[in-house]
Amino acid sequence: MRNINQAYIDGRFVTVQGHETVERVNPATEAVVGTVTLANREDAIDAIAAAKRAQVIMARTTKVERVAMLKRLQAAVLASTEQLRDSAIEEYGAPLARAQWVSQYASQCFANAAQTLADYELERSIGEARVRMEPVGVAGLIAPWNSAAGTICSKLASAIAAGCASVIKPSELSALQAQVLAQALDRANLPRGVFNIVLGRGHDVGDEISTSPHIAKISFTGSTQTGKLIAHAGIDTMKRVSLSLTGKSASIVLDDADFGVALPLALNAAFMNNGQACVAGTRLLVPRSRLREVVEQVKAFVDGIVVGNPHNPATVIGPLASEAQYERIQHFIRRGQEQGASIIVGGEGKPAGLEKGYFVQPTVFANVSQDMDIAREEIFGPVLSILTYDNEAQAIELANATVYGLQAYLFSRSQERAQRVASELEAGTVLINRIIPDLLAPFGGVKQSGLGREFGVFGLESFLEAKTVASN
Ligand code: NAD
Repeated sequence: MRNINQAYIDGRFVTVQGHETVERVNPATEAVVGTVTLANREDAIDAIAAAKRAQVIMARTTKVERVAMLKRLQAAVLASTEQLRDSAIEEYGAPLARAQWVSQYASQCFANAAQTLADYELERSIGEARVRMEPVGVAGLIAPWNSAAGTICSKLASAIAAGCASVIKPSELSALQAQVLAQALDRANLPRGVFNIVLGRGHDVGDEISTSPHIAKISFTGSTQTGKLIAHAGIDTMKRVSLSLTGKSASIVLDDADFGVALPLALNAAFMNNGQACVAGTRLLVPRSRLREVVEQVKAFVDGIVVGNPHNPATVIGPLASEAQYERIQHFIRRGQEQGASIIVGGEGKPAGLEKGYFVQPTVFANVSQDMDIAREEIFGPVLSILTYDNEAQAIELANATVYGLQAYLFSRSQERAQRVASELEAGTVLINRIIPDLLAPFGGVKQSGLGREFGVFGLESFLEAKTVASN
C-alpha cells in the first residue's frame, strides 16, 4: 500500500498543495494498492515557474551537454526497468510481456533522442541566411494513463534534446507508475527545474499548463476530445501544439495475403495492451468471399488466448484498467448486438473463473457495417469488428471511412500492391505485414487522430523553432 502525496518541482519532491485524495486499485484483484493526493493549480504554477527559471539554463546548453543529460536519464530509467514493469502490471493490468516492453522502451527513448540529436544539424545555411534551430521554450507534456512511462519518456527525451525545460502532467490514473518514474528520473541529477512532474486533474493542473503564458509548447497524448480542449485553450498564447490522439485503425487483409500469417498478426494488433492502445487495429477488413474461413480462424485463435493474471507469462489479455473501462466495454458489446452485428466469439460479462477483477471476454463481431458504433468509435478494449469488402477500392474506402487516421495494418504477398494501397490510406503510419513500428520514424495521426509528429527527428523538431539570421 503506497500513499503518494508529492509532486516533483525544482529538483525535489514536495508535498502537494491539493487536498483531493483518490484510491488506486489493482485491476486484477480489485484491491486498493495506494492512495494519491492530487496536486492542484498552485502546484502547477510553482512547477511552471521552476521550469521557466531552468529554461534560461537549458537555452544555453550545447548539443554535447544535452546528449550527456539524455545518457544520464537513460541509465537512471534503465536501472528502474523492473519497478516500472511491476507498477504497470499492478496499476493497469498490463500483461507481463507488454509491461516488460513498455518499461524497456522508456529508457530506450533517451538513447534514441541522444542519437538523433548527435546526428542533427542545429544550424545550417539557407540562401544568404544562417538558420538556427532553437528550443521553443518551456514545454507542457501531458500524458494518458494507458502508456504512462513510455509516453512521458518519449516526450521528455525530445524536449531535453531540443533544449526545453518541461512540466509533465501524468494521468491521475497512473500515479503509481508516475511515482516510480519520478524517482528514477530524479537519480539522473539534472539541473533543478529542467523537468517537473505534477500529477493532478485535467481541468485544474492540465488547464493551467494549457493556458499559462509561460508555456510555449504543449505535447499531448490522449483522447481527441481532450486534445481539442487543449488546442482551444492554447490559442490565446499561440502555443505550439503536438497532439497524439484517438484511433480506430483498420487491419486490411488483401485477398493475396497469407491468411495464416496475417490473421494472427491482425488479432495481436487488435488486442495489444488488453485492447487499450491508441494504435489497436480494431476493424478487420477481409474479402467477403473469404469470410467463412476468416471467422473459423479468428474463433480458433481467440479461443486459444489466455485471459487472466497479468503476471502469468502466458497471459495475452489481462484486466482492463478500471471499473469504468470494464463498463465501457460492456456498453459497446451490448450496442454492437442492438445494432445488428453478430458475436462470433466472446460476449458480455466476465470470462468464466475470473469473477474478481475487471476482466472482459475478448470479443469479435461479424456482420458489422461502417455506420455502427462499434465500427466508428474507439472502444479501448479487446473488441474487434470484422467488415467485408468486394474489391480493393472498397477496402480502401472502408479503411478511410472514419474521422480518425492514426495507424493502418496491411497484409499482402505483393510488395508492389501493398505499397500502392498504402499510398491511398489516410493514416499517419501504415505497417505492411508487420505490427511493430519503427521507433525512429515519425509517429502521429492524420484527420482527428492528431496534429504533428513525434519520435526521432520529427519529435526533436517539434520542440525547436527556426530563427533566421541574415546579415550583410
Ligand atoms: P484523456 O484525454 O482523458 O486524458 C489524457 C490526459 O489529459 C490526462 O493526463 C488528463 O488528466 C489530461 N486532461 C484531461 N482534461 C484536460 C484538460 N482540460 N486540459 C489539459 N489536460 C487534460 O485520455 P486517457 O483516457 O487518459 O487516454 C486514452 C486516450 O488516449 C484514448 O483515446 C487513446 O486513443 C489516446 N491515446 C493516444 C495515443 C497516441 O499516441 N495517439 C497514445 C495513447 C493513448
